[in-house]
Amino acid sequence: MSTITAYGALAGDQPLKALQITRRAPGPHDVQIAIAYCGICHSDLHQVRSEWAGTVFPCVPGHEIVGRVTAVGNHVSSFKEGDLVGVGCIVDSCQSCSECEDGFENYCDAMVATYNSPTEDPPGHTLGGYSQQIVVHERYVLRIRHPESQLAAVAPLLCAGITTYSPLRHWQVGPGKKVGVVGIGGLGHMGIKLARAMGAEVVAFTTSEDKRDAATQLGAQQVVVSRNPEEMAAHEKSFDFILNTVAAPHELDDYLVLLKRDGVLGLVGAPSSPHPSPNVFNLIMKRRSIAGSLIGGIPETQEMLDFCAEHGIVADIEMIRADQINDAYERMLKGQVKYRFVMDIASMAA
Ligand code: NAP
Ligand code: ZN
Repeated sequence: MSTITAYGALAGDQPLKALQITRRAPGPHDVQIAIAYCGICHSDLHQVRSEWAGTVFPCVPGHEIVGRVTAVGNHVSSFKEGDLVGVGCIVDSCQSCSECEDGFENYCDAMVATYNSPTEDPPGHTLGGYSQQIVVHERYVLRIRHPESQLAAVAPLLCAGITTYSPLRHWQVGPGKKVGVVGIGGLGHMGIKLARAMGAEVVAFTTSEDKRDAATQLGAQQVVVSRNPEEMAAHEKSFDFILNTVAAPHELDDYLVLLKRDGVLGLVGAPSSPHPSPNVFNLIMKRRSIAGSLIGGIPETQEMLDFCAEHGIVADIEMIRADQINDAYERMLKGQVKYRFVMDIASMAA
């Protein structure tokens, strides 16, 4: 066991602060990682502020982890000390159900999330990547092939990257497809970059007038400010797929009517209260679908990291010290981050 510094909260209405936590010694299949950077996902905020049911305290969020291997168990053959690696939202699963066998550990009923999941090792609940070190079974450790100089900007790929890559692949986004990305935050900005790299025509939807130019720089061929009805109406019945990343309840009908026949509205945003019900006629009339998607499995996460390394894709980040996390959450709530905060874990030692 080792004792390390982490940032977490003791209750949903309390700010995050420095805490001491323990990590297990690496078992035969474990990889021990010195965390260099951890991305700040809106899910971290939902969880640590008890906006979703079932938060267990102390809560240490963080599931966009990158760092260097410091030790491996004696059965680990695919990683060695010094390797650059990542850990995303999953640190364990049953490893035997059909989902796990198919590489969809994200849909395993016994999936152990990187934070807030029950664990016996050590007994309690999992504690995430706002911390100096983590020990993870080798199956859930990802290899990073980007240059080390990009390491901080790779961190957000571990959640924001895979959460957008997986539905874009599943709904076969590519050349000849018109794709919308709604909400230009951490997930949305990755969605734009990835959909463009896959060859699709990409339209960004934002509530923020000041993101118009930036969304174009990210790769969107058109940008729609969703508060302007005439801008929205210009795209009626034209999309094959719309990826919706918005972290708050809103009218899904506004986007359903933009889909052409058989179009799909893919939801990945996970607001703490439900969206208003869509008008069923907007589904029936053009055989449209609403679907959801949860992060991605481990093989697909490696595929996404390799795709990003090959295409030179990383996140646009703003680095913060650990003690700036509470302010960062406030700015994230105001949609002011362009486009992902990343915590410099070395700042915890200061
Ligand atoms: P984020 O960086 O805060 O981005 C969300 C974006 O949604 C904002 O930048 C904003 O973009 C837009 N938005 C519009 N109205 C909003 C409102 N009233 N409140 C908040 N945002 C609003 O968040 P994120 O990290 O990308 O995460 C987005 C959502 O996805 C969260 O709910 C998160 O929990 C969820 N998530 C789901 C999965 C999954 O597996 N399905 C994985 C990770 C995260 P504009 O300024 O462009 O309008
Ligand atoms: Zn996340």
